[in-house]
Amino acid sequence: QGSIKYEVIKSNNKVRHYVDFADIGGQESAIKELKEALQFLLKPEEIAQMGIRPLKGILLVGPPGTGKTLLARAAAGYTDSAFIAVAGSEFIEMYAGVGAKRVRHLFREAKKKAREQNCRSAIIFIDELDVLGARRGSHTGHLEYDQTLNQLLVEMDGINPNEDPRILVIGATNRSDILDPALLRPGRFDRQVYVGLPDKEGRKKILKIHTRNKPLDDEEVLEEVARETFGFSGAHLESLANEAAILAMREGKEKIEKRHFIEAIDKVIMGEKVERRPSE
Ligand code: ATP
Repeated sequence: QGSIKYEVIKSNNKVRHYVDFADIGGQESAIKELKEALQFLLKPEEIAQMGIRPLKGILLVGPPGTGKTLLARAAAGYTDSAFIAVAGSEFIEMYAGVGAKRVRHLFREAKKKAREQNCRSAIIFIDELDVLGARRGSHTGHLEYDQTLNQLLVEMDGINPNEDPRILVIGATNRSDILDPALLRPGRFDRQVYVGLPDKEGRKKILKIHTRNKPLDDEEVLEEVARETFGFSGAHLESLANEAAILAMREGKEKIEKRHFIEAIDKVIMGEKVERRPSE
């Protein structure tokens, strides 16, 4: 009953697990805002000296597959924090009180991991925050949801910024409109960072990242692919690059050619129902 699936990154295999901000394509403004907010973990003394209220939560808002999880992981690497990730759906159980218990456990675990890994801070990443953070009373008859959310609020209010390890909660959602307003109040998810679909340049950068280890017939093709993939998320582009490589291999080619990419675009559109608008 108490079991929950966490993803914990151990700092001793940091190099393998952490994402570098440089591996995230086309999210320059989100990265800039996020880095700025992370100064709260990096320079807590200076922040305190200025009398600035410490930051406890950052909310990453945007459509699926745009790199929110990548950003959270990169934030952990950047601040040398222990990282613990969990999905909102993990908290929802039929049994009363289980969700709230899991939330308590999550915060305790984060502190424990930080101490074990000699980190001054821990980042708790809650994906699909809307699943446990929807407006209270909106799940008819589900008092369980409300109790779970209440517990999250209690834990966030209880974060003591003067105590090591410091805790920062990063939430991700594509539905910030349905979040309980209590979550967005000062001292909770104070900062919102928008993580949108990439523009053409962003798409090109993402394609570059995901073809780094792939033999291309001609690098120039990425420019054209970027132009032809309006509405694609980073996750779509990753899948497109992979699909193109599979098509090339199937034909016994040693390099991925333009037509493999073109065919892969259609495959991704058909498979994922990418919402496409005429042109950018
Ligand atoms: P969800 O809302 O569905 O959880 P997300 O925004 O958290 O999505 P990620 O899990 O970070 O998206 O991205 C999924 C995968 O898509 C990544 O592992 C990566 O391969 C690719 N990807 C997404 N965005 C980017 C990006 N900006 N740069 C490089 N790769 C990206």
